[in-house]
Amino acid sequence: MKTFSLTLADIKNKARELDEQDTLKHFREKFLFPQHNGKNVLYFTGNSLGLQPKQTKDYILQELNDWAQYGVEGHFHAKRPWYSYHEQLTNKMAKIVGALPEEVVMMNQLTSNLHFLMVSFYRPSGKKRKILIEYPAFPSDVYAVQSQVKFHGGNPETDVIMVRSERDDFVVDETKILDAIATYKDEIALLLIGGVNYLSGQVFDIANITSFAHKYNIICGWDLAHAAGNVELKLHDWDVDFAAWCSYKYLNSGPGSVGGAFIHQKHLNNFDLPIFAGWWGTDKKERFKMKPVFEPMPTAERWQVSNAPILSMAACLASLDIFEEATMPALIQKSKQLTAFLEEALLTVNNIYGKEIFKVITPAQRGAQLSIVCNLEHPKKFFNELIQNGVIADWREPNVIRMAPVPLYNSFNDIAQLAEKLRYIIDQNNFIF
Ligand SMILES: *Cc1c(COP(=O)(O)O)cnc(C)c1O
Repeated sequence: MKTFSLTLADIKNKARELDEQDTLKHFREKFLFPQHNGKNVLYFTGNSLGLQPKQTKDYILQELNDWAQYGVEGHFHAKRPWYSYHEQLTNKMAKIVGALPEEVVMMNQLTSNLHFLMVSFYRPSGKKRKILIEYPAFPSDVYAVQSQVKFHGGNPETDVIMVRSERDDFVVDETKILDAIATYKDEIALLLIGGVNYLSGQVFDIANITSFAHKYNIICGWDLAHAAGNVELKLHDWDVDFAAWCSYKYLNSGPGSVGGAFIHQKHLNNFDLPIFAGWWGTDKKERFKMKPVFEPMPTAERWQVSNAPILSMAACLASLDIFEEATMPALIQKSKQLTAFLEEALLTVNNIYGKEIFKVITPAQRGAQLSIVCNLEHPKKFFNELIQNGVIADWREPNVIRMAPVPLYNSFNDIAQLAEKLRYIIDQNNFIF
């Protein structure tokens, strides 16, 4: 174990200094924190469900009021007309993921979007039928690719290649992904990987993997559930073919809120791409002529199927407005500091006991999440104590605790308080054996 000389008092002092220097600290006031014994909980699960912005209620109320006042006329007469409501999200979202506005659309939800996009971009033909995915991947993504393979008459046992982590820390060596691509280059049709792994917090080199796979005519799709609003993305420049994400994790848009999709500009004028179409994908100027002929839009909006879910989009807009004010570069800078400080605090607690109680498995390529293996005899019991003491983190079997210090609303002091609670819980419960 590294020798380490900080004490909890040092951590507390350092937190105070860092909070004072933090130019984004006022954003914390824009969010609602769950309460525990009359105080804000220490919330470290923005990677799973982001906190509610205080202004979200006003954005949704605006739509409820406009619905009450205008009824169906709200499509055109609401303060933010529903017919074009989704367009207000596009520019703000495109900036966050590094895309051109025409490449982005907010619609449906994440797994649905993966399916709709695979309809267009998973086109097995001849020998090229396989989908490459990482393991462990989020189960929904695994089910989605398996069912797509079956839909095309393939066999998921042989046509889904899972590049497995062979390490006990769940980290997937990127060279293993590149090796698998090179080995099966003539058989892989599509690669679909989580840009930030949900379990380990590992950030993949999207640009590098994408350009390598493109050499072999492999289409590259990325699931950005844990990446959007968390790490730097340049989807257009990186030549990503398509991507999908949800808005309820780092993007703070509320449970089950509207998802996002990206289709690279180079595909937008390919009208031969098969799609599952709906009336919201047809030319919007002609839409209400109700013609039986689909006139595909030359933008990502072509993939829209249904009219937009305004109430969930209102929540999304409330949050994207905050991102626009804070800006991604500033958020990422603070995020790096916060995450490093969380690691420092965990090492300090280890040091008090002279044992590696908390082992961070997240590699250096990371965003605002540390996945922590808890080396105690009863890690689940320890985790439950955290919750009892007002610390909201999350648990993933077999023994991983995930913690995300989110730059929009977490402070350095949150982390100093966490370190004190960790020590308190360990001492109170005689967790060291
Ligand atoms: C959160 C998450 C999902 C959830 O999918 P929904 O369709 O939004 O329920 C899927 N995939 C990944 C990688 C995730 O992190």
